[in-house]
Amino acid sequence: MVRKMGVYAVLAFCLYGLFFYWYLFYFADTKLPFEYEGSKADPATFLNGRELMLSEEYSKIRNLLFFLSTPFEWLFYFLLLLFGFSRAFKRWAESSSKYKFLQMAIYLIWLSFFAFLATFPLNYISYTLSKTYHISNQSFPSWMKDELIDFWLNYGTWLIIVPVLYWLMKKSNKRWWLYGWLLSIPFTLFMMFLQPVVIDPLYNDFYQLKNKELETKILSLAEKADIPAQHVFEVNMADKTNSLNAYVTGIGSNARIVLWDTTLNRLNDNQILFIMAHEMCHYVEKHIYFGIGGYLLLSLLGLYLTYRLMNWATKRWGKELKITDVADIRSLPLFFMILSMLMFAASPFTNFASRYQETRADKYAIEMTKNPEAAITSFQELSRSGLSQINPPFLVKIFRYTHPSMLDRISSLEEYEIKLKNK
Ligand SMILES: [Zn+2]
Repeated sequence: MVRKMGVYAVLAFCLYGLFFYWYLFYFADTKLPFEYEGSKADPATFLNGRELMLSEEYSKIRNLLFFLSTPFEWLFYFLLLLFGFSRAFKRWAESSSKYKFLQMAIYLIWLSFFAFLATFPLNYISYTLSKTYHISNQSFPSWMKDELIDFWLNYGTWLIIVPVLYWLMKKSNKRWWLYGWLLSIPFTLFMMFLQPVVIDPLYNDFYQLKNKELETKILSLAEKADIPAQHVFEVNMADKTNSLNAYVTGIGSNARIVLWDTTLNRLNDNQILFIMAHEMCHYVEKHIYFGIGGYLLLSLLGLYLTYRLMNWATKRWGKELKITDVADIRSLPLFFMILSMLMFAASPFTNFASRYQETRADKYAIEMTKNPEAAITSFQELSRSGLSQINPPFLVKIFRYTHPSMLDRISSLEEYEIKLKNK
């Protein structure tokens, strides 16, 4: 039975992969709708032939990797349970120490290590892909360093969460999901508060804007939006990537707007001011707080469903998955698997909400800067530097796009430009 289940799971994953290969490479039509041909959203008007070809090619492979990687994780956790690895990790942990917490730490290190090994090939392919297409220019040692920081950061976080979680499961097998959720609120807020000052600097260097002339312009814009000046930062990314980005991060006194230095290097001042105004909208309209609120609501539902599904799976498949009791640490891969499935299922909704905020931010930015030419060219440059698809396939859009497609973004700016001219 166990071997049969394993074979079926692998087959299901292969069929799923083939489906997405067919969908992304043969079925999906990413051609521009004819009414946009020749408009400023038409990539043929701002990319050269080589860039056009590369952006299609790169996006297709990238999308395929995206759709493969998450279900690959599920397959990994499933096989880990099925073939008794989780049980073995627990045995190794128990034979190395008699202290409960140390046993947990050892179990977790084995699980994390195997997960790292299993996901390494896909991560490495993704890294070499962005190098081949000159999106990334990060050296292998620097990339590996980031991977290792990821590893230890995740390990550290789970080392705090997992012992508490399993203690709650033991104490209350009917309500652990609720208590766990209540505890997750202060923890999430604390991590969000630390993010910009403790976590992000582990990966990159952050500093106040270096270009003082530009800083003055940005500060006068910030004043218009009522944002205190100490909230604008520059981050050194040029050694790692050629793509452009800016974002808002952190909460409370640590909230800040961050600009990648690549953005500062590649765009002119008016373009940067448009991007800044967009980020300022996220800050002013407190999109991060709405995001946290939505996340907490979803995680309550998610933890409840995880509780139900874990009980169901343990009852139905406990023998095959080698889990006798949900509150036994051996069930952790099941917990991760279910959580990851639920997050994937929720992503169309969270992405939809995010796209709504992004649309608002674009509108706010153009109203504030009133320079559609700069806005449109900045988006064109963003597309070129990231080789991003202007008009992504439907499934890619709903599962992957936290921002509206460039087709939508540029064409609404163009509408604004026409309105402005007719005034
Ligand atoms: Zn945004």
